[in-house]
Amino acid sequence: MSFGLGWKAWQLSRHKNQQQCPRCSLRYERTLAKCPHCGELDSQGLAELKARIELDHRANTRLGKSFIFLAVLIVIALVLLNSQA
Ligand SMILES: [Zn+2]
Repeated sequence: MSFGLGWKAWQLSRHKNQQQCPRCSLRYERTLAKCPHCGELDSQGLAELKARIELDHRANTRLGKSFIFLAVLIVIALVLLNSQA
């Protein structure tokens, strides 16, 4: 539980000085005049960037699912070990 809270606090502090770009939806420092991800891109480049973000997002979702799967396996292993003791 404390790990989850710490993780959230870390994420919040990390995003505090960042804003979300209305064009590509990536985050960047507030101090920057324009988005470093899509600021130099035309509409074609932006479309490619968005496609890449979507792919990254899917990869992250898969990673998250495999973490949950691993956590479930560990819980099952612990329950089995306890029931044998
Ligand atoms: Zn952008």
